Amino acid sequence: MGNDFEPLPARVEEVVVETPTIRTFVLRPAAPVPFRAGQFLQLYVPGVGEAPFTPSSSPSEPERLEITVLRAGRVTAALHALRAGEEIGVRGPFGRGYPLARLEGREVVVVGGGVGLAPLRSLLHALFERPGFARRVSIKYGARAPGELCFRRQYADWAARPGVDFTATIDRPAEGWTGRVGLVTTLLDGMDVDPRTACALSCGPEVMLRFVARKLVDVGFPAESVFLSMNRNMSCGMGICGRCNVGSVFLCRDGPDLSYAEVRHVPYALG
Ligand SMILES: Cc1cc2nc3c(=O)[nH]c(=O)nc-3n(C[C@H](O)[C@H](O)[C@H](O)COP(=O)(O)OP(=O)(O)OC[C@H]3O[C@@H](n4cnc5c(N)ncnc54)[C@H](O)[C@@H]3O)c2cc1C
Repeated sequence: MGNDFEPLPARVEEVVVETPTIRTFVLRPAAPVPFRAGQFLQLYVPGVGEAPFTPSSSPSEPERLEITVLRAGRVTAALHALRAGEEIGVRGPFGRGYPLARLEGREVVVVGGGVGLAPLRSLLHALFERPGFARRVSIKYGARAPGELCFRRQYADWAARPGVDFTATIDRPAEGWTGRVGLVTTLLDGMDVDPRTACALSCGPEVMLRFVARKLVDVGFPAESVFLSMNRNMSCGMGICGRCNVGSVFLCRDGPDLSYAEVRHVPYALG
């Protein structure tokens, strides 16, 4: 794209209701938007404003973007009101994206919370499209209640892939739920991976990231091998406005995925 501040028009092709508060928007941008898994876009709703989101779709389909959005406030409510055929704007991509090269040949543990599984789904696409690239992919996912589990229709397909396992948990017992109960950190005890050589990536609320990172380090992961999506409020996306810096790091430009080693000693970095 020519001007980084100028949104590219994108037509809403389909709206998928994931949960009562989460929807996936299938967008057809006026031109392909090449991105790496973990890079984010600014979505602009005309007359309302813009907000950052990481595509949940495959980077190998830059002409068709899927963005999965939790309704939180002004911009996300306007996005949730969109219908197929309407047009919004897209800027980006921004940020570095996930450290894909560092996952080669390693056991990869993916830890998502709530809508935090959305950016990680893009990474899962990238890994699944490269059979054998990661030695193994272990997906641990937590949501508050069964009705809040995102991408439910895809779990069976993921778990059926060679070298992939998927476990979901919900916070409290619920009628009809026979799976795991407890916070997502409870899925990190007794994992069948070698923490000394594995790599973990996590996305979810900041408080969850803090406890996930501590737990992973407790069970033997080096802090350098734990990557956290620091999806804080950000504005320009280019390290100019200074809204999202953590110490000397600009989350929009240098992140948003940073290793725990990079952020653990920065005051206020993890909630
Ligand atoms: C790099 C990046 C990637 C993101 N990817 C996704 C995604 O794929 N899907 C998704 O649903 N959300 C994602 N988010 C969060 C999303 O950007 C915010 O929910 C959105 O900006 C809220 O805008 P709003 O106008 O609806 O809310 P506002 O009206 O601005 O705020 C409503 C409430 O949400 C809080 N809030 C706003 N932004 C954030 C934030 N970034 N983190 C925590 N609380 C916030 C506000 O403090 C306020 O309490 C991402 C954020 C970043 C920085």
